[in-house]
Amino acid sequence: MLSGWLLLSAAVQLPAAALSGDTHTMLLALAVLLLLVIVLSLYNRKLLQSKKAADSEQQALKNLLDQSAEFIAILDSSLQPTYLNPAFSSVIPATPSPPAVFKDEESDVLLLAEITPQLHWQGEAWLQLANNEKRTPVALTITRHLDSGSYLLSGRDISHCKRKQTEQDADYIYDADTGLFTPLLLNQFIQTAINSSTASQSQFAICLIKYNQIVSYMASAPQDKVPDVLRSLSAQLKQYSSKGAIVARYNTDTLAMLIPAHLCSAQIEVNLNRLAHKILLLADQAAQEFKQSALQTYIGISIYPLDGASPAVLLSSASTAICSAARLGRSNMQFANSRYQLKAPEYLALEAELLKAQDNDEFDVYYQPRLSIGSNRVVGYEALLRWHNPKRGILAPQYFINIADDTGQIVALDKLVFRKCCQQLKHWQQTGISRGRISVNISTLSFRQQDFVSALQQQLEDAQLPADLFELELHEDIFLQPDSAINTTLQQLIALGFHLTLDNFGQGISSLSVLREYPLHSLKIAQGFIRDMEHNEQQRNITASLIRLASYLQIDVIATGIENEMQAYLLHVMGCDILQGHLFSKALPASEVPALLARENRLLRKEVG
Ligand code: C2E
Ligand code: MG
Repeated sequence: MLSGWLLLSAAVQLPAAALSGDTHTMLLALAVLLLLVIVLSLYNRKLLQSKKAADSEQQALKNLLDQSAEFIAILDSSLQPTYLNPAFSSVIPATPSPPAVFKDEESDVLLLAEITPQLHWQGEAWLQLANNEKRTPVALTITRHLDSGSYLLSGRDISHCKRKQTEQDADYIYDADTGLFTPLLLNQFIQTAINSSTASQSQFAICLIKYNQIVSYMASAPQDKVPDVLRSLSAQLKQYSSKGAIVARYNTDTLAMLIPAHLCSAQIEVNLNRLAHKILLLADQAAQEFKQSALQTYIGISIYPLDGASPAVLLSSASTAICSAARLGRSNMQFANSRYQLKAPEYLALEAELLKAQDNDEFDVYYQPRLSIGSNRVVGYEALLRWHNPKRGILAPQYFINIADDTGQIVALDKLVFRKCCQQLKHWQQTGISRGRISVNISTLSFRQQDFVSALQQQLEDAQLPADLFELELHEDIFLQPDSAINTTLQQLIALGFHLTLDNFGQGISSLSVLREYPLHSLKIAQGFIRDMEHNEQQRNITASLIRLASYLQIDVIATGIENEMQAYLLHVMGCDILQGHLFSKALPASEVPALLARENRLLRKEVG
């Protein structure tokens, strides 16, 4: 407005000055005019840019929905479709009426009419397809948007799952002796893992477990006893499928595990060593139970892409490693690649040291700040455990958290961290430097403890602090197996006042349905989404769409692992305000936090904002 007025007055001054021959006024008016034209064009450009950013965000979301293999539809409040993605519109007629979704295969009850008063519905439904009398079963989720009253429908064709129930298909999928997946399916799973490996999550492992002598045991055992020992060994391995591993039969005496990328962290050799030694121990116990002292177990591990680029090569590398393990003697394991083998015994020493570490007071909590881009301020911290190991120096959790998980020590560690956070927050309050919530990581094992909620409540009472000063970052494994107890615990935590966050969203197997199903306040985007985003357009589109969909579900988004300004800028443009990462600060001991706050307004560079 002001610039428009100035432009007008300069434009009026110019001819008057020219007529009066006042060169000074004329030059001044000309300069003002020029300046204002430049300012106005810059302003227009900025407007255009922010509109472009919003448009490209919309476009990214549309691309994601368009490319989704799930059926996705958006219906307005009177159930008329306003958007059908190609997967959906290719199977149902494009009519302005609501899609024909039935409650079951036979009945005429239309599902949408029944559930419209609800906010959220999830279950099996039947779609009437175009030019097809037969209805198709779909796993469907319907979510109503609170403000607009519109509905988001997303569904998946599950007719193939129904087909799997037929006996013929079951033979193809499951091995009759063990109940595990067949070798044929194992090959397909490995191929799928190869096809879906990405730059940030490229590694996965194949673990072959050969139970020597089992063939002769099976031949000599009574007929009805034959599969017992094998079934017992298979059941031992099946426990890993709840974490995302795929367990299959490889041949007569060998079982196989595909350990997916998200379970192969940076410390891959330590984690796989632990896993293999645990399997060896369990097999030993089974041998004793079945009185088979001759039963020996050999494990061979190959890693993609290091040890092979196809299912056949990976499996043969793991088989060769089994032979090396057998050469070493009784029940043993070997990696296909000697690079990993060298570090093999490390985890055993660590495990022994970890057991003593708590008594020796070797644990400390470090704090990594979170910044709000909007306010340019620190708005909270994530509490991260550090181990001051007297021999090895300060160790980050990647070196010991899996060990603590396996031994159950993680429960005591999570309690210790929460107690230390309470003390720290109290101290920051007293010294006037407290900033927002402290967020604490919660392991699956801790969450499942009977006294989990009451122990937290007790610690809060001891420290005389309210729960709303804390955020709990819940590991996605918690939500892997549907269990009504999960919701009860979440409701109790919310009633106390805790803020609940789904940690590392997108890293493993959790999906948007977790966000719809459980009462969570926010999600933390996994670092894998951030790592490459400035170079990888597809990654950018996915992240932008994730942020949009979370906002649609009224869930806050926090991004972590921000290492450069471009990533921070992109996330800011996408609408994610709370960021955490090495760009701003690494996790610090509490003693360094005051110095960090003193340079708070310099943590964020000018380009972002
Ligand atoms: P997380 O919850 O995903 O924590 C974030 C991890 O990312 C932290 O690693 C943090 O230091 C790291 N990080 C943050 N910004 C950046 C960045 O810009 N670049 C890179 N490369 N890394 C960044 P940290 O401290 O090693 O912790 C690793 C994991 O250990 C945590 O992952 C969490 O799952 C677990 N953890 C840490 N402390 C605890 C605890 O007290 N209890 C439990 N149960 N788990 C914990
Ligand atoms: Mg975390």
